[in-house]
Amino acid sequence: MAALSAGLAVAGVAGVKRERWVQIALLVAIGAAPDLDLLWGRHSRETHSVGAALVVASVAAWQRWPVASTRWRIWLAVCSAWLTHPLLDALARDTSVPLGIMAFWPWSQEHYQTGLSVFGPISRRYWLDTFWPTNLSSIAREVVILAPLAAFAWWSRRPGSRGQEAK
Ligand SMILES: [Zn+2]
Repeated sequence: MAALSAGLAVAGVAGVKRERWVQIALLVAIGAAPDLDLLWGRHSRETHSVGAALVVASVAAWQRWPVASTRWRIWLAVCSAWLTHPLLDALARDTSVPLGIMAFWPWSQEHYQTGLSVFGPISRRYWLDTFWPTNLSSIAREVVILAPLAAFAWWSRRPGSRGQEAK
């Protein structure tokens, strides 16, 4: 939802050739993509960084991913959507090592977290009794905080709304 909000906020609507749902699906996928690092056992490391966002945004702009009309807007939308993930992770309570995220890779290998606990922890230990209560309460909290943002981004960027420049 955060990726969608950020992506839509900068993507604009005008000139997006494909249907809107492609743009939405892509932005959501980009927001979730950093966690694919779980597949190769380097969670919260390289993919959760500014460096990764720059690389992915550049590939997206070069390949003209259908999230915005111009290369510059594609770059901006993908970069912001990707960055919401490490940002929100840094705002969440992290209970598994390494604590925090490798935010400034490739320039630094250090892990950062804000310690703010705006968002709750997510448990992958499905065999524990705390799995469902922990995750459901974290999800509820995320929805309460982020749904209004996503709704606003959606509403303010829908075709024909004010604030959308003619192109
Ligand atoms: Zn993550």
